[in-house]
Amino acid sequence: MPDTSMPRQADPSTQATELDALVIGAGFAGMYQLLCLRDRLGLSVKVLEAGDGVGGTWYWNRYPGARCDSESHAYSFYFSDELLQEWEWSERYPQQPEILRYLNYVADKFDLKRNIAFNTRVTSARYDEAANRWHVTTEAGDLYTTKFLITAVGCLSSANIPNIPGLDRFAGQWYHTGQWPHEGVDFTGKRVGMIGTGSTGIQAAPVIAETAAHLTVFQRTANYSMPAQNHPLSTEFKQWVKENTGELRRMMQSTPNGHPFANEDRSAHDVTPEQRNAIYEKAWEIGGLQFRATFRDLLVDKSANDTAAEFIRAKIRQIVKNPETAAKLSDIDHPFAAKRPPIDTFYFETFNRDNVSLVDIRANPIERITASGIETKGAEYPLDIIVFATGFDAMTGPLLRMDIQGRDGLALKEAWNAGPRSYLGLQVAGFPNFFTVTGPGSPSVLCNMPVAIEQHAEWIANCIGHMREHGLERIEAKAESADQWVDQVNAAANATLLPQAKHSWYLGANVPGKPRVFMPYAGGMARYREICADVAANDYKGFTLSA
Ligand code: NAP
Repeated sequence: MPDTSMPRQADPSTQATELDALVIGAGFAGMYQLLCLRDRLGLSVKVLEAGDGVGGTWYWNRYPGARCDSESHAYSFYFSDELLQEWEWSERYPQQPEILRYLNYVADKFDLKRNIAFNTRVTSARYDEAANRWHVTTEAGDLYTTKFLITAVGCLSSANIPNIPGLDRFAGQWYHTGQWPHEGVDFTGKRVGMIGTGSTGIQAAPVIAETAAHLTVFQRTANYSMPAQNHPLSTEFKQWVKENTGELRRMMQSTPNGHPFANEDRSAHDVTPEQRNAIYEKAWEIGGLQFRATFRDLLVDKSANDTAAEFIRAKIRQIVKNPETAAKLSDIDHPFAAKRPPIDTFYFETFNRDNVSLVDIRANPIERITASGIETKGAEYPLDIIVFATGFDAMTGPLLRMDIQGRDGLALKEAWNAGPRSYLGLQVAGFPNFFTVTGPGSPSVLCNMPVAIEQHAEWIANCIGHMREHGLERIEAKAESADQWVDQVNAAANATLLPQAKHSWYLGANVPGKPRVFMPYAGGMARYREICADVAANDYKGFTLSA
């Protein structure tokens, strides 16, 4: 269960460690940022990581069924040909333990762990203008001062645990999927209630149902999901990947979502209903996110989207035998893929089991948690275990839970009180020499993450290298550049159907009180890469650089 202990205060007599760059977080992003800054620029760098190992999201999310929805050969670092030749994934979609093994392998291969302090949670960071240094404090009271401060804290790392009255009185066990116990949870013979039907809940339900006495899924918003069609990888495929890494890299860097497949250049209205159905049927058989790539207009034209949405709803009704359950599962209130589309392994089939039931908490909301279970309007569900698959305070949450203060004591919380404002998702006006890897305003979560991360980490390292070459000490995003970029982020989102999903975490709508702002840049990774390259090539236009 979550640790709610108070952070310790820094002891003023503690000697600060002096660094060129401090990176927060040791997932994909922090590890590669460390490598870029230490091995390519020769900076003194330290990574501070709250967990006791590398892995970031894959360190914390150990819930049953946790698996990536990017294909393994794309969910890899591409910066090292040697690494690409050495590592072999076992399945089409890698499971959490395999990804964690991979990240440990990378950390060991590049000797990264010697520059990472584990079990070290950053509580605050303050910019000292006179010294042009950041002062960083950890929960244990350690102090660091650094010229560059870079957050690599992930977009989905701050657990969203709903404030349901009575949770403290629950006599059973409860867990959030993003803070899963390392020793696992034994569901054998237990009555389990799971709240949440996003990508996580959709992955967890079939696995929990295998051992639980009964699983009750509490659904607020019904969701689309496509079969992953996961399978072990053949020797031939693994060999093909090794022989085609150059082409795969080129493709992932040129597609909007950073995946190694292109969106088909045809409209859903270019074909007959029969042809369209056959295309969807084939994509369903192939499985995974390629379904979204079947037509170019699925995310921009509601009538095109309706054809995909209706195909999936019909699939749900066909798979789920109980018509009432099928109706609840297929009563989806948003366009297909306007929320991040989950991919699953037998999610809808799970509702055909005798030990699984669905509760519609949109119609009958949860009123309280009692000592013995969950009470909704009109019904009681006795439970031994509650699983919160309720997602995250996404993108801004991990940044704002630290006390970050820029120039003149400006708190990031204050600067972002109406929603995040960042130039390119990389820098915030008023916060010199502070970079956010895959921050709000960058494509990040709309992209295959390692592709987005490599681009950001390299851009930041190149920027710091440029500053060093030119004797520059400080870089800060201009406020007007951030404002213009926020306008572009909004325009990119509004050109799609994405904002139509009213309960989406892309909009911050899943966290009560959070400003409703569309956070990721929806203009595509390839376009974004060009914009960032153009900014760098034009003397970092939009930033103020000074000696
Ligand atoms: P999510 O998509 O935000 O889903 C959270 C679920 O909990 C939703 O069904 C939500 O309902 C429900 N919920 C939240 N607060 C609630 C409340 N107070 N009462 C009742 N229900 C509540 O979170 P997630 O499933 O953890 O996924 C987050 C993201 O992580 C994904 O979109 C994806 O980007 C990533 N992820 C990826 C993978 C993968 O690679 N395969 C796996 C897991 C997660 P509403 O929809 O009504 O808000």
